[in-house]
Amino acid sequence: KERVDQIRKELDMHVSGADVAKPCISFAHFGFDEALLDVIIKHGYSEPTGIQKQAVPIALSGRDIIGIAKTGSGKTAAFIWPMLIHIMDQEELSKGEGPIGLILAPTRELASQIFTEAKKFAKAYGLRVAAVYGGASKMDQFKELRPGGVEILVGTPGRLIDMVKMKATNFRRVSFLVLDEADRMFDLGFEPQVRSICDNIRPDRQTLLFSATFPKKVEALAREVTTEPVRISIGYVGQ
Ligand code: ADP
Ligand code: MG
Repeated sequence: KERVDQIRKELDMHVSGADVAKPCISFAHFGFDEALLDVIIKHGYSEPTGIQKQAVPIALSGRDIIGIAKTGSGKTAAFIWPMLIHIMDQEELSKGEGPIGLILAPTRELASQIFTEAKKFAKAYGLRVAAVYGGASKMDQFKELRPGGVEILVGTPGRLIDMVKMKATNFRRVSFLVLDEADRMFDLGFEPQVRSICDNIRPDRQTLLFSATFPKKVEALAREVTTEPVRISIGYVGQ
């Protein structure tokens, strides 16, 4: 207990919530298999970042997370790794269509960055990833999604909704949902689309929400879309 408090303090981290998994100070402690560890090491990572140390074990325990940490702190991998493990745990993985992991991002640039990062690690298990966003051909994205579907889908809210309307994909299998850069999603006016997507995903899903800042409106949305979340903030002194 004291050791855990000390590690969190060293990371300038605040964690709130009941029965929370302990932080892991090295990759070896995450319990990842060889395949994933290999890709991580090949990628040049030697140690998890602060947010990864705490968010990964909590996500692996199945809990919802509200994560507040500044840009560049390694949040993408913090949600991609547990998402991969979650997907590999699904018994009906090869059956049916539609993603199991869904990531909402505010911009085309961010969606494609997440896509690139997700693909690197998804290789470990041969899982398929696709990204959809505005400013690119709907038809191309439709074709990308259609044959057999993907296990992981990244997208901006508006284009994701378009893809569902076009029946390029559906959210029936989604059980691991990530809202990345939730504050920017608000700034760009995507709140209604984000809510609509969340309302159409099974309520027993696991939800991770990340934000660099945590104003009241983001907090309200976070409370709505998560269930008994663990809140992790790093270096953040605010509301
Ligand atoms: P954030 O989403 O918090 O802004 P990113 O996930 O984009 O941060 O990561 C920022 C950079 O840090 C990326 O280039 C990423 O590849 C790198 N990175 C992530 N995790 C680690 C790690 N454990 N060790 C070294 N570099 C990492
Ligand atoms: Mg990020």
